[in-house]
Formats: sequence, C-alpha cells, structure tokens
Amino acid sequence: METREKSPVEGQELKDHIIEFCEAQGADLVGFAPAERWDDAGEVPPDFRPRALWLPARTVIVMGVEMPLPVVETTPSVLHMEIYRTANRKLDTLAYDLTRYLNRMGHASFFFGRDVYASLKALRDAPMAAFSHVMAAKYAGLGTIGLSHCLLTPEFGPRVRFVSVFTSAVISPDPLVGKDLCIKCGLCCQCCPKKALAMREDRVVGEYDKMACLEMAEDLTKRGCYPCGICTKVCPIGKDRMLYKQKGIQKKYLKEAEALAANPDDPAYKSWTHVRKYGLTKGKGAPVSKTRQEEKKEEA
Ligand code: SF4
Ligand code: SF4
Repeated sequence: METREKSPVEGQELKDHIIEFCEAQGADLVGFAPAERWDDAGEVPPDFRPRALWLPARTVIVMGVEMPLPVVETTPSVLHMEIYRTANRKLDTLAYDLTRYLNRMGHASFFFGRDVYASLKALRDAPMAAFSHVMAAKYAGLGTIGLSHCLLTPEFGPRVRFVSVFTSAVISPDPLVGKDLCIKCGLCCQCCPKKALAMREDRVVGEYDKMACLEMAEDLTKRGCYPCGICTKVCPIGKDRMLYKQKGIQKKYLKEAEALAANPDDPAYKSWTHVRKYGLTKGKGAPVSKTRQEEKKEEA
C-alpha cells in the first residue's frame, strides 16, 4: 500500500499547538509577528530585521517571562541578579525547545538567544544588540515602548524579559497594541540614579543616554549585583502591582534615595536594604562578577 508523508500542521491549528507548547514549557506571554512588520514600520535598520538575519523567516514568535515585582524592588541586589540570570536561562531554553519542536513538525526555525554579548566592554565598544527582542515583542502585539525604552505590557509593565524564535511557517499575526501604555508619569526619569532618561514633549519614548546606563551596569558588575533595573521597578504600569498589592507607592520609590542617604536603616525600606546588604562584593577594585563568556565556559 502506498504511504504518504504526513503534511505539517498549519494555520490556526499550528498557532494553537505553539501557544500550548510555550505555555506548558513556562512562557508567561506569547505573541506572533509577521516578518514584514519590520519592513512596514521601518523603525529598525535593515540589517537588524528578521529576514536579514535569517532569510526564510516568515513569522517571529516572541515569548516573555515575568520578573516578579518584589524581587525587582530589591535592586541592586544579588537576589535581583540571580532572578535576572534565571529569566535569561529560562528564555534561552524556551527558544531552543520551541525551535526544535517546530523543526520536528516540519517548519524550519531559528532562534536568537537572550543576551548575545560577551561582556559589558563589548557593549561599550558597540552598544547595540544584533537583534532587538523589545522591538520584536512590540511587533508581536505584547505591548508598547515606554519613556524608559522598555517594552511595557498590560500584565507586568516592564517587569518581563523576552526571547524570539524565527520560523518559516506563516502564522496569523497578533494585533499590535493600539494605545500607548506609558502614561509619561516621569517616575523612571526621576528615579534613574544616572539621569540617563529624559522626557520628550513630542513623543512617548524618551531620550536615553546609553553610556550613562552602561556606566551604572559597570559599577554594579564590580559589586556583583548587575543589572540596575530601577526604571523597571518603579514603573506603575502592570497588573502585577494588583497581585502584589503594590499600587500607588510612587512616593516610596521617589523618596528612597534621599531617605536612605539620611538613614541607611530607615524602617520603611528595611526589607529591601536587608537583602541588598548580603552577598555583595564591597569596595573599589574588588573582583568583578562573571562575564557571560566565563559563565558559558563553566556551563560547557
Ligand atoms: S515609569 Fe512612567 S514614564 Fe516611565 S515608562 Fe513607566 S509609565 Fe512611562
Ligand atoms: S537601568 Fe538604571 S541607569 Fe539604566 S536607565 Fe534604568 S534606572 Fe537608569
């Protein structure tokens, strides 16, 4: 009897399979963007678009994982750094697994890893990633870019990290979020310790001094508690604030630096400062935390 090769699953059925797979593996958010959205929008330079990186790409699937608010509130801390690294590892695993899942189903796929840079020095030399997951998440309908240059989502505000899988399969796209989620409250600018962000009158996305932000990352790396993330901590957007009953605490964030300068043991901030006190490398010239290359060597 003649046997026929099974055709790959396509259309809505394929989309449903992918969503089910991603959620079962632990993704909190999943969105679908057609590769043409990069060309239609024209915001991303041509060499940084999906089809320039991998020609067969027709759809980009973006997955997001939450950075839990109470952990982010302890930043800068070793605890925050550990969650940040865990989120990155989780995202790389999710992307790797989804790529292989799609390949097994007959849809050639490729993924762009989470933090594809060797060290902060590499970022200083060329302060741009080869592919922006933030722009991919925007084009996949997961949120809008705020004043802070972070992607704000209805679910977690900016307290979420993303990874992207490119596939040759054509999958129906998710609609873009139509209305800006950023309310231009300015809290991210006011609380930034390096004054790296500034509001603009003519648009939502603010001015961003990448080098000032990088300087903060370098300082924190020396102390072993990279990254900063204060702009993600203070942003009032996100349903996660309801879950954690942390709505309307802008004043607490605004006064934090001043209050702790006056009294490092201020009881209002005790739970955060306690976490920050331990596990850090103290003083200048102290050993820096591991670079991604060193981590990769250890993992190999
Ligand atoms: S803190 Fe305020 S201004 Fe900054 S991104 Fe969030 S909503 Fe926008
Ligand atoms: S990460 Fe820190 S230094 Fe960089 S923009 Fe946000 S608050 Fe400022």
